[in-house]
Amino acid sequence: MKYDKIVVVMLIVLFGSTFVISSHATTSMKSGDNFQVTAKFYDSIFEGDKPNIAKLNLFFTQMPKGGDLHHHYTGTIYAETYLDWVNQKGWYIDKCTFGIVKKRKNKRCDITVQALLEDDALYRKLLTLWSDKDYGNHFHDQPPPDSNFFNTFGYFGDVSDEYMDIGLNIIKQRALKENVVYIETMLSRIGAKSSDYFDSVKTKQLNQLLREAKSQQSVNKLLEQIATVLIGERFGASVNEFISMVEKNHRGIDSHNFVMRYQTYASRTSEPIQVFVDLLSGYLAAKNSPLIVGVNIVAPENNFVALADYTLHMRMFNYLSNKYPNINHSLHAGELTLGMVRPKDLTFHIEEARYIAQAQRIGHGVDLPYEQHSVELLEDLKENAVIEINLTSNEFILGVKNNEHPYLIYSSYGVPLVISTDDSGVSRNNLSREYMLLATRYKPSYKRIKEYVYNSMCDTFS
Ligand SMILES: [Zn+2]
Repeated sequence: MKYDKIVVVMLIVLFGSTFVISSHATTSMKSGDNFQVTAKFYDSIFEGDKPNIAKLNLFFTQMPKGGDLHHHYTGTIYAETYLDWVNQKGWYIDKCTFGIVKKRKNKRCDITVQALLEDDALYRKLLTLWSDKDYGNHFHDQPPPDSNFFNTFGYFGDVSDEYMDIGLNIIKQRALKENVVYIETMLSRIGAKSSDYFDSVKTKQLNQLLREAKSQQSVNKLLEQIATVLIGERFGASVNEFISMVEKNHRGIDSHNFVMRYQTYASRTSEPIQVFVDLLSGYLAAKNSPLIVGVNIVAPENNFVALADYTLHMRMFNYLSNKYPNINHSLHAGELTLGMVRPKDLTFHIEEARYIAQAQRIGHGVDLPYEQHSVELLEDLKENAVIEINLTSNEFILGVKNNEHPYLIYSSYGVPLVISTDDSGVSRNNLSREYMLLATRYKPSYKRIKEYVYNSMCDTFS
């Protein structure tokens, strides 16, 4: 209830005489009054032909928004910050490929960050490749939007983990400035390599066997054998090293007004054995550290490996969920739409994420209208899951927006939702903007908006 009070006080300060009635309301402030006053103000923004977007931006910037539960650490840092870090390292930018170069090799292409900044055309070009900046506002050479989004991670990948303590602090400060009190960020893989445990012949054989296994039981049998080889001192050391790295970088992040927690993940474009190494080590890290609150699976869902191995990945989660029932997992699922993949690939991803992998949260869930058992699935989601809604990235990557977005279905069915950024560095957005988009597109009531805020601060993994 205190949030209503904060909003009311902020709005009085900001809107002065237009908000005289509210100032009277504050004299005998009760939570119900605060809610009514804020809701009334919110409704007033929609009076007239079109909503006052500037006012909505202001409203949502000031509104306490709880948590941002879906974003990737490396995609949250701005390209400009990554350039600062490249500069600090004394590294170079390859102006021919726009990649990072640690040691200068090609004198024609490798330039300092300073030289890049002094060449406006080159600098602007880099920003379009290291983020989605300027993608839609003028004609220029560009990859398809989904490639543009996912390729960014490859450009800044070499420097993204170099100053993680500073990066986490930047995210914290940014969150506090827009009244966000909880961040759950997908940090990185644990780092264990399957090649340290299996030679190339065995790896090839296991990958093939895993892909050929057609039932949960046969997958379990293989995973059990693989886990027996993996679990031991060396594997435990990788997990502990990751936990220590998180603890070190996390120092000073939690405070009286802010909390950050982490997810680790596997990449769904990796070979099966590596996916399992990442997931198993992730589960162990989550089991051993309270800072790591969940395990996920990332990378483009329309990648050919990701599509071919989708059910296998869900079975890996099933195996691990049964083995470690107290470990949480939120899964990217249904980040697809018609035309992007073959029709059959649109029919079961959310369903398998729920029924096989037992995911407690679903990231995106955009292909819902095309899922084969969508109505039954909605009933299940309503009772047992939370959907992470990412309006900007869905519009950019999938081209799904406005009334085509399944938000309308989830909302009308009463499926619990949270609003998230995915990812503010690449998309150059913030959580306030996501709420603004939500409000302008769908005009949910203030009560409904608050539900999303509360959802983002509840234990969404329960
Ligand atoms: Zn994501």
